[in-house]
Amino acid sequence: MPVPDHLLMGLEQGQRWRAEGRYRGRYAPSPTGVLHLGNLQTALLSWLQARQAGGLWLLRIDDLDTPRNRPGAVEAIQADLRWLGLDWDGEPMLQSSRRGLYSSWLSWLRRSALLFPCRCSRRELAGLARYPGTCREGSGGWGWRDRRLPSWRLRVPSDDPDRSGDVVVRRADGFIAYQLATVIDELVLGISDVVRGEDLREALPAQRSLYRALQQPPPRFHHGPLRCDAAGRKLSKREASAGLNSLREQGLDAAAVIGLLASDLGSVPSGTRLSAQELLEHLTQKGIHVSHS
Ligand code: GLU
Repeated sequence: MPVPDHLLMGLEQGQRWRAEGRYRGRYAPSPTGVLHLGNLQTALLSWLQARQAGGLWLLRIDDLDTPRNRPGAVEAIQADLRWLGLDWDGEPMLQSSRRGLYSSWLSWLRRSALLFPCRCSRRELAGLARYPGTCREGSGGWGWRDRRLPSWRLRVPSDDPDRSGDVVVRRADGFIAYQLATVIDELVLGISDVVRGEDLREALPAQRSLYRALQQPPPRFHHGPLRCDAAGRKLSKREASAGLNSLREQGLDAAAVIGLLASDLGSVPSGTRLSAQELLEHLTQKGIHVSHS
């Protein structure tokens, strides 16, 4: 089934940007709360890497999972990035305003027989390393049953090198899955490099399987270190792990916060105060390249 013209045009624009060879990075927070120090550290790494490469840094807001969005979070994220001097290129992009694009890709995948409906519940799949293919050959249908819709999964060949299992691209609650939206966006925006937290490394196999299904080359992926709280737990936006507000209340200004994040990354001695721009210059002068695999 050929890809419809309007989808092809978007893909080709992305390919042209990639072919230009200029670094195109993005930071893609979900507006589920204010950015905590871990998010800010990832943002800083992502910004530094893009700016060191003389590239672009786009801001994309991953707000498709509307029940998880928090009022005011989109504005707060932008204000925090600005306060730290992490400037992005162009207008921020809201995934919620791109639903039509994702739905068109979803229909194409479905019409191309690359998807199948799945009615397995979370409970049935709990504890399994990957989806065992339960509904693959079934004729479960795509309509309502027991007041529920199926999720839709990508049929991933069993010899897929990433062994991702069949990836959910539309959730049973009707939301477009993060995996599909992010892959479509990286392609259409011509993203060359994705820098994100180590916690998202587990999303790689699913995303790689999607790139393969779409026959498109993936961007380069980099995963930065994760920050934990004093008890060693991963920070969480939803649990309102301390953000910039609490640091400001303690009297820290932007130079102190950048110094704090940079010293935790081992880039400067602790107690250093400097702006994001100064950090960029400092690293570049010392020939230190920010990159994580
Ligand atoms: N929106 C995702 C998050 O905030 C990150 C997506 C990504 O960087 O791929 O966890």
